[in-house]
This record gives sequence, structure tokens and C-alpha cells, in this order.
Amino acid sequence: MDRRSFLKNTAIGGGAAAATSLAAPALAAGHARTLTMVTSWPEGFAVLDDAASYFTQAVNAMSGGSLTIDKKTPGQLVGALEVFDAVSSGQADMYHSADYYFGGQHPAYNFFTAVPFGATAQELFNWYYNDGGQELHDELGQIFGLKSFQCGNSGSQSGGWFREEIKSVSDFQGLRYRMPGQGGQVLGKLGASVQNIPGGELYQALSSGALDGLEWVGPLADERAGFQEVAKFYYAAGFHEPGSGLIASINLDVWESLDSQQQAVLTNAAKAATIHQFSQTMASNGAALERLKAQGVTVLNFGDDVWDAFGAASKEVRDEPMGDELYAKVRASFETSLANSSSWLQQSDGFYLQQRNRVMGG
Ligand code: CA
Repeated sequence: MDRRSFLKNTAIGGGAAAATSLAAPALAAGHARTLTMVTSWPEGFAVLDDAASYFTQAVNAMSGGSLTIDKKTPGQLVGALEVFDAVSSGQADMYHSADYYFGGQHPAYNFFTAVPFGATAQELFNWYYNDGGQELHDELGQIFGLKSFQCGNSGSQSGGWFREEIKSVSDFQGLRYRMPGQGGQVLGKLGASVQNIPGGELYQALSSGALDGLEWVGPLADERAGFQEVAKFYYAAGFHEPGSGLIASINLDVWESLDSQQQAVLTNAAKAATIHQFSQTMASNGAALERLKAQGVTVLNFGDDVWDAFGAASKEVRDEPMGDELYAKVRASFETSLANSSSWLQQSDGFYLQQRNRVMGG
């Protein structure tokens, strides 16, 4: 810890300890810590910054003054996509981001946010919390000096925004499109010119014509970003992110310097942020989609031939990093869990929803 951080921690810790001295008399002022958390989201960005803010407030409230998160938006300390390296190197204590942005650091990171034709939010939770996912995230984090958590979920993401309708796979040829992660690699195989541009720069890129289209999150977040002002074709369902996990990661040395109560606060605040954000998003997307239609947006779905092309390219993209042993290990765990989850979900929730719609009306 540098001197400036120490002074800041001491000042905040002293104030917080005084304010909570009746509620938590055992709290020693020296225990109080402030963690600088860099994020990939501009202030007020729906879903993404909502999750980071909820997590920040939950940690601050749950810790009784022993732990404070100081959230930094892109550009305050580092750029939106520089957060991983900043925390790995110790320049910042934590990040809140999406781990598929860091497939260049290690391709296995894709699985902890989203892979094309991968897990829904429910299936991701099953793997992560009860079927080996968190342990593998920890193993991966050992390489980079990170301890990571699921910390928010966007639910199923939309297929994205286009200026022109996608009538066949050939319409992706030469299309300048923003999509991160393995989904972007898939569109690259279909001929698109794919870029990963941070969320805060997307409106400008689309409105200036630098991009022909983009995917961001879903109706709630996309409406707030204003993409309906510059593109009119919106594909409701996407192949690329069926339940994206947002991620909080803390520098491993910082994590190990925390006491067990502080670690428990971070662990459980991240879980609370996950279910809060997932339910908030999924509760809001339907109404947001109706508002987009009222603003003149045409809502469509890709045809089966386009979905087939997405699928064939997705298999190739998922296979490409298989020379990496840890990627192969994470993939095997993810796919085994997904097969088990989906088998039961189809026999229970899937069948039930069919019957509910049939008996009660959709
Ligand atoms: Ca997205």
C-alpha cells in the first residue's frame, strides 16, 4: 500500500469506526480498509454500473465500517478494458467488469462470463456455485494474482442493433460490428469486421457511422444507452451471451491481507449483487422492449439458417484454444455441468412452462 492510500484508509477508517462504535465496539480503527475498485462501466450505465454500485453499497453497509469500496469509472484511474491488468499488477485493488473481455490474457476467462451457445444465468449459477466453477476461477486467478467472484448477471442478452435487416448469413460480410468475446470471433468467421469497443464509446461509434451495428446488453441497458436513436432493427434473442456473468476480482495479495469477516462480506455481497442484478434486469427488459417498439424500433429474430451458421462457427471458435490445458479443463467442467443442468431443467422447468402456457394461456 502506498502512503497516499494508507492516509486515505486511516482517515476513512477512523471516521467509520467512530460512526459505528456503538454498533461494533470490537472494531479496531486499524482494521478498516478502503479498496479502490476500477470498473469498465460509465457512471449510471444501466445493468452494468447498477451491479457495481449495488455491490459497492452492499459491502459498505454489510462491513459495519471495516471495508469501504471506492468505485472508479473508466478514465479516472485506468481505461475500461485495462482493469484486469491494473488489478493483476496491484495498481488497483479490485475491478468490476466482464471476464470475457480478458480472453486475450487467458481464453478460459470466457466461460466465467459467457460463451456462444453456452449457459443461461441459471445454468451458470449451478456450475459456478455448486459444480466446480468457482474453484476453477480461483485456479485461473492464481496465474494472474486474482481472487474472483460472480458479481451481477445480465440475463439473456439480445441479438443486437443493425441499421439494415439481416436476411441471410451473407449480410454479415464486411459488416463493421461490435461484439466482444468468442461471440465476436464467431461473427469474424462469418465475414464481419469485429471490434471490441468499451460501452461508454458505443453510442458515438454507432452514430458517427464508424460501426454498422453493435450488441450491448438487452432492452433495459440498450434503451438507456440510446441506440434506438441511431439504429432501428433490433434482434431480440442472441446466440452469444445467454446469461452473462459480471465479475468482481480482487488482487490476491490484497485478498489475503483481509480478515475472514472482510472476506465473507466481499463473498456474500457479490452473491447478493448477482441475484439482485439478474432479477432487476429480467424484471425490466419486457417493458423496456415495449418502449423501444413505441420509439419506432422493429424487433426481429434471426432465421434458422443464420442460427445454424452461428452454431457451426461457435463450435470452431470453442475448439480453437484446446491446446491450452487449463482451457480444456475449464471447458470440460463447464460442459459437463451444463449437460446435467439442462437435462433436468428441460424435464422440469421446460416441461412445466409448456404445460403452464397450454393450460393457463401464454
Ligand atoms: Ca453484450
